[in-house]
Amino acid sequence: RGKRAFIAGVADDNGYGWAIAKALAAAGAEIIVGTWVPALNIFETSLRRGKFDGSRRLPNGSLMEISKVYPLDAVYDTPEDVPEDVKTNKRYAGCSNWTVKEVAESVKNDFGSIDILVHSLANGPEVTKSLLETSRRGYLAAISASSYSFVSLLQHFLPIMNPGGASISLTYIASERTIPGYGGGMSSAKAALESDTKVLAFEAGRKGQIRVNTISAGPLGSRAAKAIGFIEKMIDYSYSNAPLQKELLADEVGNTAAFLVSPLASAVTGSVVYVDNGLNTMGLAV
Ligand code: NAD
Repeated sequence: RGKRAFIAGVADDNGYGWAIAKALAAAGAEIIVGTWVPALNIFETSLRRGKFDGSRRLPNGSLMEISKVYPLDAVYDTPEDVPEDVKTNKRYAGCSNWTVKEVAESVKNDFGSIDILVHSLANGPEVTKSLLETSRRGYLAAISASSYSFVSLLQHFLPIMNPGGASISLTYIASERTIPGYGGGMSSAKAALESDTKVLAFEAGRKGQIRVNTISAGPLGSRAAKAIGFIEKMIDYSYSNAPLQKELLADEVGNTAAFLVSPLASAVTGSVVYVDNGLNTMGLAV
């Protein structure tokens, strides 16, 4: 039987989540995705109208199929956690069962089990503010959407993950080195995500024979990255200073993710794997 992957954080064809979906589909996996509730409508409409058909094309010529798209808001674990103003917000009101627990239940009912869990989402409402200017609320929101969301997803999906399965998330070097401009507690959130990768690798390894790794990716002009405001500068910086002076393609991150969740990486867990043209190794910009 082929493997089944649930990919949280796909809402267009530009980001790392989409590229990971494609790499997994190309390797024969069945793809199901979780899309942020406010982005669901436009994503499904675009899919249906063929707007992504060009980028759905796989190396063998076929189009990537997405078996099901689930609405998801990974900052809420159960319906009891959802505040009234969100419940009644018109972008959420027409949708149901989008908290993490409910999505895991729906996937279980629809598919029974999964083999691969991908976390490709982040959000920091104050990302454009320096850490010194960040509010408690903004900082905790960044951690909730970008770090705890992974803990919660793994917590709720682990019981339906087949032994030998794997999960992967996306992190950024701002966790370990100062990247001015990556603010709002997002650097803190990535540090938490990387530390949690180690602890969760232990816990999920012992509990369910599940591997947990994270990819520290170089800069990509995704929708989320454009919202931060300095992504073009980071791409140029990387191009000038990395050992490999070439554009970083989302597909290169997708391919590494496919390797890491495959049996080829069966002894790799708790790792931060850099997919950044080697930029992380440099100590001096030249
Ligand atoms: P992206 O916009 O394609 O993906 C981010 C996704 O998160 C979006 O689809 C958005 O709808 C979703 N999202 C936000 N809040 C959510 C919530 N509460 N619940 C569910 N979904 C939510 O952008 P991307 O840059 O591909 O980001 C994917 C991952 O890659 C993130 O973890 C990001 O930090 C990481 N990353 C990105 C870069 C980069 O330069 N783009 C570099 C390193 C790491």
